[in-house]
Amino acid sequence: MSQELECMEGHRFPFEQYSMIEAFGMICPICSRENHKMIPCELKVTNNNVIELIQDYVKHSLNLSDELEFEILNYLSLNKDEYNRASVIAEELDCTYQLIAKRAMKLVERELVVVSKRDTRNYYQITEYGLNELEKRR
Ligand SMILES: [Zn+2]
Repeated sequence: MSQELECMEGHRFPFEQYSMIEAFGMICPICSRENHKMIPCELKVTNNNVIELIQDYVKHSLNLSDELEFEILNYLSLNKDEYNRASVIAEELDCTYQLIAKRAMKLVERELVVVSKRDTRNYYQITEYGLNELEKRR
């Protein structure tokens, strides 16, 4: 499972471009440039084919040497049925909201976490893959 962005006109963007698109208020850059329309992009979960899954597995094989990333993942695993806001995680782990948001996005890129957007806020949840990887390191 991985995530990408898609606008209502069907333009799709890799998750790596999330921060760029978010900086423009989640507006699709292609619609804006070519059709002068403000079409919002939404986060989608995609299903990779098997070869991509294997490549992703190798590419993203977990390196939780980073203590904070481990702590975030651990927190999400303890609250896996909830949509977790960065500010709440930050309070719990005693660090800044910005730091959590940044690290959480790295975890999303590695498919350990999924992000969903409601109103203007990001909510994080651990993936099944993230739970498994975390379990291996306990
Ligand atoms: Zn578009």
